[in-house]
Amino acid sequence: MSDPFFRIHTLGCKVNQYESQEIRERLLEAGMREAAPGRKADLYIVNTCTVTRKADKDSLYAIRRSHREDPGASIVATGCMAEFGAGILRKEPGVRMVIKNRDKAKISARIIKDFLPSGKGISFFEGRTRAFLKVQDGCNNFCSYCIVPHVRGSSRSKPVLQILEESRRLIANGYREIVLTGICLGAYGRDLKRGMSLAGVIERMQELPGLKRIRISSIEAKDVDDGLIRCLRWPGKLCRHMHIPIQSGDDDILAAMDRRYTRRDYLDLIARLKKACPDIAITTDVLVGFPGEEERNFLNTLDLVRRIEPLRTHIFPYSPRPNTKAYALRKAVALDIVRDRLKRMSEAADDCARNYQQKRLSSVMDVLMETPSKDHPGEWEGYTDTYMKVVFRSRKRLSNNIISLRLKKLIGNKIMAVLP
Ligand code: SF4
Repeated sequence: MSDPFFRIHTLGCKVNQYESQEIRERLLEAGMREAAPGRKADLYIVNTCTVTRKADKDSLYAIRRSHREDPGASIVATGCMAEFGAGILRKEPGVRMVIKNRDKAKISARIIKDFLPSGKGISFFEGRTRAFLKVQDGCNNFCSYCIVPHVRGSSRSKPVLQILEESRRLIANGYREIVLTGICLGAYGRDLKRGMSLAGVIERMQELPGLKRIRISSIEAKDVDDGLIRCLRWPGKLCRHMHIPIQSGDDDILAAMDRRYTRRDYLDLIARLKKACPDIAITTDVLVGFPGEEERNFLNTLDLVRRIEPLRTHIFPYSPRPNTKAYALRKAVALDIVRDRLKRMSEAADDCARNYQQKRLSSVMDVLMETPSKDHPGEWEGYTDTYMKVVFRSRKRLSNNIISLRLKKLIGNKIMAVLP
């Protein structure tokens, strides 16, 4: 096969996106070409996700769509569904190879024999102004509902020198914001001899010339320590934004989820964060309909969300995953009740987002412009460090520029801004 074309379909989290990018770069370096939209590919790589039943379905759909697009192409399936679902994936027409997560780093080498050593990292992100940098993989927490530790293994951290080298490469390629990603970022460093904490890594990254912003993709409440809170001092490079999953605001449910913090712990943490950094934006995840969740438990979660006032709340219905502890729990919540709670939670989340943003209107903030608006020609979209989506009208090409703008008006989930 001379200069074969490949296409990658990625499902799931930012870690998967990072790993797909790693595969992409190795294949490009080896002389393969990425198929442009509409062009047929010789090889499809489907990087699957298994975090919910829907994620399994979507992964299978991506494989079937790839086969439909080009029945003669080979499909390589990898990612989290490849751990427990390898048998199912192998039966799909077109699938030639299933590569488990633990062998993912070698996927390109397996496709192109004897090619580059694994773990070289990445240097660009197709069509993005923010670069994700995976610094950690795996999780030791075993929350009772979660399949991730079973499919990703225990926590492993990338050495700080490698992180700095990869950051320098991304900065040299024009990236101004690096988003640190991991499956359980807060566990960073615990597995390394004389390892640094996440705060230590951020302090080292702050010294890198050319880098304007560092963002943490997601961190568990119990892992936000004083060092990290100190890094939020403003003006600094660490974005005033933390994604801290709540999952539930009820102590009984949190205990059944094996989350290892209480509602009070979470509230205290947010109070400390807001004291240290008054403008901080909190975004979060909430799980609705965990087995045994009664109305009073749900009301506690609703109340906690309203008190925290997140800028964004990702709401997930509970999805039973075989091989997890919660799978054996009875007391499933009836579907119509789950639907009703999802709706009420989503209304609360919208109110919170609106409140947070409205309080910031008329202030002047730096916005990293990303892409032209898809719906409104002549408008550009970007983000503040506090992760508010901002729209600005301009005829110039603004991608990757940081501009100071006055936040003017909230329209839907975006803020219209003007020059100050
Ligand atoms: S912290 Fe809990 S929810 Fe997050 S990946 Fe680990 S086990 Fe899953």
